Amino acid sequence: MPAGPGTGAVADGGSLGGRLESIRAELPAGVTLIVVTKFHPAPLVRELAALGVRDVGESRHQEAAPKAAELAGLGLRWHFIGQLQSNKAKAVRGYASVLHSLDRLSLLDALADPEAEPIEAFVQVNLTDDPARGGVAPADLAAFAERALGTPGVRLAGLMAVAGLGADPAREFARVRELRDRVLLPVAPHATGLSMGMSGDWREAIREGATHLRIGTAITGNRPDPAYART
Ligand SMILES: *Cc1c(COP(=O)(O)O)cnc(C)c1O
Repeated sequence: MPAGPGTGAVADGGSLGGRLESIRAELPAGVTLIVVTKFHPAPLVRELAALGVRDVGESRHQEAAPKAAELAGLGLRWHFIGQLQSNKAKAVRGYASVLHSLDRLSLLDALADPEAEPIEAFVQVNLTDDPARGGVAPADLAAFAERALGTPGVRLAGLMAVAGLGADPAREFARVRELRDRVLLPVAPHATGLSMGMSGDWREAIREGATHLRIGTAITGNRPDPAYART
């Protein structure tokens, strides 16, 4: 059966609003729920806004930019959560308030702008031994944070991570929290954010102190054909 917005193929079935409410009911105070709307067309985002959603996440600039433009009147906060090419950094900061995937120095340099309204940025941490997976290696985090603190137009918000396939998410999230406390906070006491937890592991993320959850399919149902994003 094809699944799309509202069809309830994921999570507890029922409606978009029902799935949203069942997750909201479990959120501790102070945790920001970002509903990931990538691959879903603008009307789904409009529906979410009508249900009181303020924070939405997107992962591709070519898809996010027109959606953000179309929905500009709704007071949404756009979170960019996907890999970002440096040559698109300036354009993304035009509509996104928060970047969750600051993962390398070249991107940090591309974001530098003394004139611009600062973008909130989470440093993405690579929890694997494979540099190809993207993200800053834990060993490089202190130096990276110092550079970010000295970059105009960027406000360091905290750390972001995606639990590895087959890994124990609770252990990985605990490691991210430990890195924030030991490496980040001594140089950036305001950078308390932990962006971690997706549809399959958000409860573990909350237990390890997540401040920002990025949840897609558990709320929206399965994503439509990704071809949508390429048109
Ligand atoms: C797509 C995506 C999510 C949401 O994933 P779901 O499993 O649908 O909740 C969260 N974070 C990032 C970085 C993503 O790309």
